[in-house]
Amino acid sequence: MGVPVILELRPAELEAIRAHAERAHPEECCGLLAGRLPADFGSPAARLSATESVPLENKAASYRTNRFTFDPLAQAKAERALEARGLAVLGVYHSHPDAPAWPSPYDLENAWPSYAYLIVSSGRGAGDARVWTLAADRRSFLEGTVQLKEDLCPS
Ligand SMILES: [Zn+2]
Repeated sequence: MGVPVILELRPAELEAIRAHAERAHPEECCGLLAGRLPADFGSPAARLSATESVPLENKAASYRTNRFTFDPLAQAKAERALEARGLAVLGVYHSHPDAPAWPSPYDLENAWPSYAYLIVSSGRGAGDARVWTLAADRRSFLEGTVQLKEDLCPS
């Protein structure tokens, strides 16, 4: 089981993600969470400082109201640009239109180990924001803690 992840975000970053979620409503928005890769990345108790978010287009072919898919090329390009600046992808954010910020079975099927999954609600219930990581057995999510910090700097 382990200790759930802690995701540090600037309040303005969370607001930007929420704004993206409202623009995309009633579809899901999605993007990357990036920052310096901590030495304990992938350990259950990792503290991840996401110093920036990178919005990406939801390219799911259908059901964009309750799922998202990145364009692999756009994702690779964004990752290269981050790496060039010494940053890494720490996780993924997406929205749940008119639904709670709890992972869906689709989210579970498509989650990668070690990543932090930030889910924000949009539309009805907007304001809910929760972070999740895959449990060691990959059959469920553990809820972590979103910590808003104004003075977040790359470590
Ligand atoms: Zn979801």
